[in-house]
Amino acid sequence: MKSAVALRSADRPYAVAIIGAGFAGIGAAAALAQAGVDDFVILERADDVGGVWRDNTYPGARCDVPSALYSYSYLPNPNWSDRFSSQPEIHAYLRGAIDELGLAAKLHTGCQVTEARWDSKDLVWAVTLGDGTEVSTRLLIVGSGAMNEPATPRIAGLDEFSGQVFHSARWPATFDPAGRRIGVIGTGASAVQLVPEIAASAAHMAVFQRTAPWIVARGDRAIPRWLRQIHDRVPGSLSTTRGANFIRRELMTGAFTKSNRLLSLIEVAGRRHLARQVSDEHLRAQVTPTFRAGCKRIILSDDWYPTLARNNVELVTDPIHHVTTDGVVTASGAAHDLDTIVMATGFHVQRRLILSAIIGAQGASMASTMVRTAPSAYLGSTVPGFPNLILMTGPNTGLANNSMILMIESQARYAADMARYLQANAEVALDVKQAVMDDFTAELTARLDRSVWATGGCASWYQDAHGRVTALWPGTTTEFRRRTRQISLPDYTVVSGFSE
Ligand code: NAP
Repeated sequence: MKSAVALRSADRPYAVAIIGAGFAGIGAAAALAQAGVDDFVILERADDVGGVWRDNTYPGARCDVPSALYSYSYLPNPNWSDRFSSQPEIHAYLRGAIDELGLAAKLHTGCQVTEARWDSKDLVWAVTLGDGTEVSTRLLIVGSGAMNEPATPRIAGLDEFSGQVFHSARWPATFDPAGRRIGVIGTGASAVQLVPEIAASAAHMAVFQRTAPWIVARGDRAIPRWLRQIHDRVPGSLSTTRGANFIRRELMTGAFTKSNRLLSLIEVAGRRHLARQVSDEHLRAQVTPTFRAGCKRIILSDDWYPTLARNNVELVTDPIHHVTTDGVVTASGAAHDLDTIVMATGFHVQRRLILSAIIGAQGASMASTMVRTAPSAYLGSTVPGFPNLILMTGPNTGLANNSMILMIESQARYAADMARYLQANAEVALDVKQAVMDDFTAELTARLDRSVWATGGCASWYQDAHGRVTALWPGTTTEFRRRTRQISLPDYTVVSGFSE
């Protein structure tokens, strides 16, 4: 899969370099190719493409957006096996996309970007890779993702534990749960998928819950062969399914951001689901959420509650106090002896490590710039002082109820439009105006302050350290698409170089 073409030396800048070959990076590459920008390169740190869908190999990993919608609009796949696709199928889809979109020659795997520094004289990004190789590029597209850095809590004594500890996103291929005493910390989307998959073979499982999530029925089902054949052969059939899913999800946006009435219906559905699946009063009380549905991500599952009710599974709601050589001790002093601890504890979404490696026009990193302000970017994409740079899946581009691929396609088109402009205007760079970004941030803050993500009574990865919702987009994907249709030049300062 690695390109047979060598990287060019830094004195011959690429028109565009893309960091990352997950959905965002591949999507950006596809948009560039479609816009007629051919001089680009994809720098991927791993030895394979796929991003989160390469990394999250835990048992049961599966998407919670229907497959027909969780794919590129220009690369429909009639062969999905299930309504909600599994990790191996999505990973295979992305690997296939590299070939189908003709990107293999552009892809350089094993290339970790350790620094990208803006050169105000030559108007290029000087990019350094892990092995010391240097390349340069006029436009830098950062597609390294929001959920690629596992967050592992610092728990006292964790280093003393004599058993195995790993994060859900770093699942060891050889791990066999059979006969083991396994502790899982966390009850987010990852835990809810993996615990039911391993509980039957484990000797004992302790699930450490800090906050009970809202769970509604998943209703997954296999897509029968005849239907797949129809999707393959009847023009418009797959896009009709995609369209129906899209419209349903777009219409739900207002429930999260404006009126909470629809969320009350989701809460009714969640309580019914719980009542149907859990008869034990004590367990029911333990897993009943104490915040508004939607404040955290709503989780789809048909087997989470029945798994917690198993004889060999114990739900622990007493807070974790410390870890010993033998296992976890909770605040009440209860000891839970374990062989394995699985950290299903999420990701560093708010502070991406790559941002520390991007040094802008003022000589400061993007991470330090975003520490001083809230994590923000104009249209989730551009940051003042970091010219010719697009952050894919940047601040406020996340979604609670729709497919991220829709946002990625919009951003990719925006990036391609910038690339096209730079191709036509050789000696300039585009730097978003601070006032434009400030107005945009103020607008989003006002909208997000009313949303259930801010008012629903929970803490989540949607929020920054001050409780501001900096991860999510407050509107429909249609609105985002409209606003990112093309670069609006008045939003940008056109910077000229100082080349002698
Ligand atoms: P997450 O939603 O951030 O959940 C992390 C869990 O770990 C939470 O239950 C959290 O408790 C708990 N936790 C964190 N630190 C802890 C500590 N010190 N002590 C005890 N518990 C602690 O992470 P995730 O489950 O990996 O999911 C992240 C996101 O990835 C999802 O929201 C979703 O967007 C995506 N995802 C999607 C799918 C899918 O498509 N089905 C599957 C997996 C992941 P609190 O709630 O109290 O903070």
